[in-house]
Amino acid sequence: MNLPDPITSAANAEVKRLRALHERKYRRQTGWFLAEGTRICTEAVSLGWRLHRLAFLAGRENDRHVRPLLEALERDGGRALPMTESLLGRISRKDNPQMVLGAFEQHLTTPDARSGSGSPLWVALDRVRDPGNLGTIMRTADATGAEGVILVGDCTDPYSVEAVRASMGAVFNVGIAMMGADAFVDFAATWPGRTIGTALPASSDYRDADYQGPLILLMGNEQSGLPDQLVEACDTVIRMPMLGRSDSLNLAVATGVTLYEALRHRHPA
Ligand code: SAM
Repeated sequence: MNLPDPITSAANAEVKRLRALHERKYRRQTGWFLAEGTRICTEAVSLGWRLHRLAFLAGRENDRHVRPLLEALERDGGRALPMTESLLGRISRKDNPQMVLGAFEQHLTTPDARSGSGSPLWVALDRVRDPGNLGTIMRTADATGAEGVILVGDCTDPYSVEAVRASMGAVFNVGIAMMGADAFVDFAATWPGRTIGTALPASSDYRDADYQGPLILLMGNEQSGLPDQLVEACDTVIRMPMLGRSDSLNLAVATGVTLYEALRHRHPA
């Protein structure tokens, strides 16, 4: 691949374009998002994610981690952007930026009850607001073999730099679906398996629930929990005991505990 001269100016249009991917408005307009680091970018291209831009440290084009990314970029018709470390830092808004930053194409999916050997598990998140929580949940969903996350209602953007960072690459491994609350209620009504909600006033203990078969695990908003409309869409609502003085668990922790309980039931050691 013929490489352009290294970019040295923050006024460069490509630098500005990549920097703008911190803004949701611009991610929506372009359909792109940023991922950082050779490991995560390499995994993404090996999974077939489309790479539009690769910003990397000038002079590292023959690095064994960078070369395959440049090849993938050529395959995808993307543009290579060698640049200085300080410009990589400007784009990632970090003092110690990674050697490569990739701009990938977003991809949303539709949850399918037939995937996951006919017994898929999806995590549905009602109006999740915190990108760190969402990224952590994608990472845990990936670790526990879930198909992906369904973002219900007005949620934080799964493709924000913060969510992608917190997912540690899982954003490329799990499906991401989006729907409004009414559409979710309709979807849950036709789902061939259980929908298990999690809420603090619930009377059944999470250890006693039936996690077998196609499963949707529904988690509530960080501040207000699950609204009645979504509770009514569930077959069962479970709680995790709170023995101390705190009134609830952090959303990502609650999701992790429930996902690992589901894993224990669905895939015994
Ligand atoms: N004040 C909120 C409420 O009353 O539901 C707290 C929300 S909590 C921070 C976020 C979500 O995590 C909840 O909606 C629920 O899905 C889940 N969650 C947290 N702790 C839980 C627990 N002990 N049992 C069941 N779900 C829990």
